[in-house]
Amino acid sequence: MRDTKTKTTCPYCGVGCGIDVESSNKRQVSIEGDRQHPANHGRLCSKGTHLAETVGLEGRLHYPMIGQRTVGWDSALDDVASRMRDTVEQYGPDSVAFYLSGQLLTEDYYVANKLAKGFVGTGNIDTNSRLCMASAVAAHNRAFGEDVVPCSYADLDEADLVILVGSNTAWCHPVAWQRIEKARERRGTKIIVVDPRRTETAAMADLHIPLPPDGDIALFNALLAEMIDRGRLDGSFLDDHCTLPEGFLDALDPAAHDIDPAVFNELAELVDSNSRMVTLFSQGANQSVCGTDKGNAIINLHLAMGRIGRPGAGPFSMTGQPNAMGGREVGGLANILACHLGFSEAERASVADFWQTSRLCSGPGLKAVDLFRAVHAGKVKFVWIMATNPAVSMPDAGFVREALARCPNVIVSDIIADTDTAKLAHVRLPALGWGEKDGTVTNSERCISRQRAFMARPGKARADWKIVCDVAARLGHGQSFDFESPADVFREYSEMTVLATRHGKLLDLSNQAGITDKAYDRMQPFQWGGARPFEHGFSTASGKANIVAVSPSKARGAGPSLALNTGRYRDQWHTMTRTGLSARLSAHRPEPLLEIAPADGEAHGLSDGGLAHIETTAGRSAYRVAFNEDQRAGEIFAPMHWTDANSGAGRTGLLVHPECDPVSGQPGFKNVPAQVAPY
Ligand code: SF4
Repeated sequence: MRDTKTKTTCPYCGVGCGIDVESSNKRQVSIEGDRQHPANHGRLCSKGTHLAETVGLEGRLHYPMIGQRTVGWDSALDDVASRMRDTVEQYGPDSVAFYLSGQLLTEDYYVANKLAKGFVGTGNIDTNSRLCMASAVAAHNRAFGEDVVPCSYADLDEADLVILVGSNTAWCHPVAWQRIEKARERRGTKIIVVDPRRTETAAMADLHIPLPPDGDIALFNALLAEMIDRGRLDGSFLDDHCTLPEGFLDALDPAAHDIDPAVFNELAELVDSNSRMVTLFSQGANQSVCGTDKGNAIINLHLAMGRIGRPGAGPFSMTGQPNAMGGREVGGLANILACHLGFSEAERASVADFWQTSRLCSGPGLKAVDLFRAVHAGKVKFVWIMATNPAVSMPDAGFVREALARCPNVIVSDIIADTDTAKLAHVRLPALGWGEKDGTVTNSERCISRQRAFMARPGKARADWKIVCDVAARLGHGQSFDFESPADVFREYSEMTVLATRHGKLLDLSNQAGITDKAYDRMQPFQWGGARPFEHGFSTASGKANIVAVSPSKARGAGPSLALNTGRYRDQWHTMTRTGLSARLSAHRPEPLLEIAPADGEAHGLSDGGLAHIETTAGRSAYRVAFNEDQRAGEIFAPMHWTDANSGAGRTGLLVHPECDPVSGQPGFKNVPAQVAPY
């Protein structure tokens, strides 16, 4: 019998769809899209639609565990606190690290960041969002002076041209794709896909640009040069709102790209003739050793043509996870403090004063790849991992697993008992999952929505923010962590955004600082910064946006190797701990496929439907072979989802090099030199 109706938000991708839930007290749940939510207006994709099949308790961690022993919360929290205290006393604050997740709610992120940076005094707190969109963050900071997405979903409805760069939108952000398709039906919006693969999205586009991996910078620079030649730059926008690097525009060459000239010309015609242009970029752009420059190449074109801050126009970074944006806002990345503040003396002083602490970390900490290197090297001796599975999802995952096996203090907070990472933990802390926890998330268009609890907490599971506060109290910081509810945390975070305004940033939730518990409970989705956040100037000292001089990177592939690109399947999420519970979702792609052009497959002795290994210098794993005419010659594709826990094959994380973008620290999950051979 249905007895509760709740409005909440989907726990999967960065579209952040609203969901109406009806639930009984026996975890029977029915799901519908929330017609009032501005992100989806009632639409859901297959993952959202089948959420009800994933709320069972299979595999859940119900009780705190030290080693293989079930213990009470007091014992577990005492143990975590004493391990952390001893580590800091013996080796200093930088021997402690936290590794968080875009699955956490903003309130969880806020208190974890406050404890690590503010009271332990370590900058070593990073997140799996580093693997997802750190390059877009860095590109925003370089161009705008602040990590702000300058678009809204309504711009997709109002655009005449949508360019999708490195995004299989129809599979990975399906409801955003549905909006784009609607715009095509309604106003004839043209869709261009820039992607080495002819993905499902590319097959439905008006034009597919099959560029070589990491060919984006050359393409967007050439497009900018072509628009200069055609006299299409917006001179007054450039003069009034942009800072130009000396000589950059003059040096650009419209022929310096790797695209068929006829296809390039078709692209240029569409760009020339459609001023309502959105360029939506995602992991295909970000997960690259030159991802930040790609983001800036895209932003440069929009700035130079004045196609930003207007209806239906702008460079639009789509985040992968449901709350990567919230994490960015409260300082979940190692290279920011909180509320978009950096580590200048003035910003540090403001944060230390607000938190009333004398222990604030002295500077940025280690980004994800370097953080696990430091664990491996024995420099980090305590790591607390929350809501993520780095033993599978990090590049060179075998190395990360080895690092965790060596580390004397591995704490894992998770909803699942035996993830590949949890198996390496000394202490496991049972966290609340979707439908059990309360808090807020921020989606890709800066819209903050509530996630709400509608199911009883299983076993002794606790909210992540509460677990962190309980440990902080044991470390002697109870007064600074005396939050009684997620609403309490949200009030403090909102109040803290006053500092952002004081330091010239746009992030401002100060009008939420006095929100009552009741109002928090009833909170409707709202967008911070409004539809045109840079209406009154950019967040740089001059108020002008920076056009950033970027040049194409050298090709990464070597010799006779194939280039391995990795990505998602339509119906799976991350390491499948949730989506793997649904038989219907798993039916879409039941096993991990190595997709390869038939001629390449035959040349390497593979057969369609047979088994093969992919091998890189980082590792080796087995896959089912799928010959695919849409796969470019010389490139292969493999999915990211499979783990030791669920199959042992298709371990793509083992294959990816830990090579990173030098600006953002984001690892390159694409364009990895690889070999294939029959199994
Ligand atoms: Fe959930 Fe994303 Fe699908 Fe919306 S598009 S239902 S947020 S997975």
